Amino acid sequence: MPIVSVVKCEAYDLDAVRQAVTAVLAPLGGMERFVQPGMQVLLKPNLLSATDLERAVTTHPTVVEAVVEQVQAAGGTALIGDSPAGPVVEQPPVWRVGGMAGVAERTGAALVAFDGVAWKRLNGHDYYIARPVLEADLVINLPKLKTHIFALYTGAVKNLFGVIPGTRKRELHCRAPSLPEFSEVLGDVLALVQPGLTLMDGVTGQEGHGPGPGGTPRRYDCLAASTDGVALDAVITRAMGFRPSEVLHVTQAGARGLGVSDPDVIRVEGDRRALEWGAVDRPRFPFNFRLPTWIGGWMGRAVQLRPQLDEAECAGCGRCAEVCPAEAIHPLDGKPPQFDLDACIGCFCCAEICPRAAIRPRRGLLARLLGVDV
Ligand code: SF4
Ligand code: SF4
Repeated sequence: MPIVSVVKCEAYDLDAVRQAVTAVLAPLGGMERFVQPGMQVLLKPNLLSATDLERAVTTHPTVVEAVVEQVQAAGGTALIGDSPAGPVVEQPPVWRVGGMAGVAERTGAALVAFDGVAWKRLNGHDYYIARPVLEADLVINLPKLKTHIFALYTGAVKNLFGVIPGTRKRELHCRAPSLPEFSEVLGDVLALVQPGLTLMDGVTGQEGHGPGPGGTPRRYDCLAASTDGVALDAVITRAMGFRPSEVLHVTQAGARGLGVSDPDVIRVEGDRRALEWGAVDRPRFPFNFRLPTWIGGWMGRAVQLRPQLDEAECAGCGRCAEVCPAEAIHPLDGKPPQFDLDACIGCFCCAEICPRAAIRPRRGLLARLLGVDV
């Protein structure tokens, strides 16, 4: 029976976070159980985009710093890496805006850009995984607790998608446009990376239309940890009010034996009150993604969620066009871009990255006419 450890942590004060990290790891055997002297340890926070910390888009630097300190105290060498959305650059702005540059400066941890890849093949598909992830002796997954317009929720399993560098993510989105297909991809990435430990930053997370700047920051006041990221996600999503089968990528990972997704057979240790959050504002349910791809076509377009641009909010930066896997966004020199909704696959990568939260989900015409809240 896997253990998911939870503790209360109500502020990003470094001393408080240090204590909470120690407490949440205690039922799992402490950091010494995972890190032996001389090990190279890759910490994988969620560094989706360079967004102010108050928006709760990225794993908070105090959580990363407290984990780095524990890795170093156990004799390991700490590396911090993630691949934000968009092309890989040597020094992504999120390192500074998300506080990782400060963590590196204070602790001596190295920031690694995911610019080299190793090829892996699984279930007949090709995956290009960031080389530092595969070369590390241990990967510690540091997700942020957030809702997600497309996948409903992003935590331990979904956070690993960042090991696919930059625009290579687009190939996978195009190959797996429906939620069942994309959930299989997420399971494959989990199988290829196999983090030894997951520690989630749930002090402040998001609800509503996460996981980017369009999500609503929300205090969850907790840290959670487990050796089984699927089990951690199962416990957290239940506490958020999702039914066990509702968050497909977690259920599918459990069905594939990549972890335990049934919360009833997971042991929760620590302070269970840390999971008492009341009602969480969920993203609208993207019904169309449950349809098999072959039913997509006109029916899909008629009912499925599609991005809608608020031109008054748009700064014309063109970042949405950079990440769109379907090349369905055409930038217009500093003006609001044009969307080709026939080409759109509904992944909402554009909404995730938009710094102005100018892209929101909108129901298809038929769904609006029928009043179906998909
Ligand atoms: S919608 Fe957002 S990301 Fe796209 S151009 Fe406008 S401000 Fe930039
Ligand atoms: S327009 Fe947005 S939702 Fe549509 S495919 Fe491009 S990134 Fe995905």
